[in-house]
Amino acid sequence: RIPVICIDGPTASGKGTVAAAVARALGYHFLDSGALYRITALAATRAGLEISPDNEPRIAELARQLPVRFAGDRIWLGEEDVTDAIRTEQAGMNASRVSALPAVRGALVALQHGFRRLPGLVADGRDMGTVIFPQAPLKVFLTASAACRAERRYKQLISKGISANIADLRADLEARDARDANRSASPLKPAQDALVLDNSEHTIDEAVMQVIDWWQA
Ligand code: C5P
Repeated sequence: RIPVICIDGPTASGKGTVAAAVARALGYHFLDSGALYRITALAATRAGLEISPDNEPRIAELARQLPVRFAGDRIWLGEEDVTDAIRTEQAGMNASRVSALPAVRGALVALQHGFRRLPGLVADGRDMGTVIFPQAPLKVFLTASAACRAERRYKQLISKGISANIADLRADLEARDARDANRSASPLKPAQDALVLDNSEHTIDEAVMQVIDWWQA
């Protein structure tokens, strides 16, 4: 069996960074499942489809045929490098709305399973441990307080020269958390056998070491 490590958790908990670092340390493949929802939302917008339940079948069809390619640290949608376009706050909100549509979630399952290749996979998302890879031997649920996550996101944006406001960021991420936790399709929650890691008081490096320790235990 090909090993899978799932790292799930709320927005801006640091899980993307932790998951990518764990994958690098172990020489495993990496699945950024949030990027797939972001790209699906972008593809829908580009196709002139409003993200709403009315368009669910058409958006699901787009998701099923998503011409996405991960090349090093760049992400391509067809001929377009969308790495930066999918990272805006607006793109995150659109991703959250598109991800609440059950048919879209279903359409992305096969694509996500395709990332499981030797020597192993680290999968980052919301439902990696609960829905996509329920048999994974290690499931981590990475959390952090809303204040801490808002501050982290703020520093990220400022370091990229993007102006931001902590209170707005916090309100945005709490709105996104609420939608992710309350939707009927794969709501955000830890898998029953997940190990919970609160990242509020840890550095990214400490969290990476903890996950690797658990993996090697
Ligand atoms: O992790 P990221 O912020 O890139 O994810 C964007 C949005 O996609 C999340 O707010 C969440 O609504 C959705 N998502 C999801 N299931 C996943 C990954 C992301 O519903 N496995």
